[in-house]
Amino acid sequence: MGAARAILLMVLLAALGLLMMGCGGQTYLIGKGQEVEIGQEAAAEYEQEHRIERNSPRARMVANIGDRIATAAQPPNYPYEFSVVGEDVNNAFALPGGPIYIYAGLMESLGGDEDQIAWVLGHEATHVSHQHAIKRIESAIGAQLLIELALGGGTSQDIAGVVTALALQNYSRDNEYEADRVGCMYAAQAGYDPTAGLAVLATFRELQGKDPSDLEILFYSHPGNTDRENAVKRYLDKNGLYGRYYQGG
Ligand SMILES: [Zn+2]
Repeated sequence: MGAARAILLMVLLAALGLLMMGCGGQTYLIGKGQEVEIGQEAAAEYEQEHRIERNSPRARMVANIGDRIATAAQPPNYPYEFSVVGEDVNNAFALPGGPIYIYAGLMESLGGDEDQIAWVLGHEATHVSHQHAIKRIESAIGAQLLIELALGGGTSQDIAGVVTALALQNYSRDNEYEADRVGCMYAAQAGYDPTAGLAVLATFRELQGKDPSDLEILFYSHPGNTDRENAVKRYLDKNGLYGRYYQGG
């Protein structure tokens, strides 16, 4: 079964489940199990077309840091998996329910610094733990449309495409700010320098001048990077988190 069809089927089943429950008391249309499946379908599709490093020193480093970030990000218990994409791209991204990717290019731009990579992984883990993608998918599709489809509406192909596209789309500005903040906390709890995010954002600010197209995927930079840096500093001050890149101020 194609990924798009499988995802559509899961979403339709979720809609039917909601109908049978009489719409009462359920926070989300898509349950956690389905959210994880949607992310894994999208991950399988992505991995067919990109080179994932399995045993490189970089991959082992990311797996180790990722383990510690995943522990800090509990609860909720998502099956996190942290992978390196062997491409020269300055980016990282998360899929619903756990798969997280960082590009080799970004690791190099960050000088292979573990603290900075920990913050990037913490930022991405926040998109998962705070369900940023799945909430967007839900609200974009809407229960009404799903119910119409379940009752025999005609545009199922279009909707399946929308679900896949939404799983890979940019997050909102608020989602990015939240991921920046919580990423600092996850990094701190995992034993890394909680201020390293500032170094990452400063690097992004420099890179953005050179090649903005790189940064337009999921590490979306539409909140200005200076604004993001200032917001992170306020958060660090508020929580008394200091380190190599920020001593208060
Ligand atoms: Zn993000």
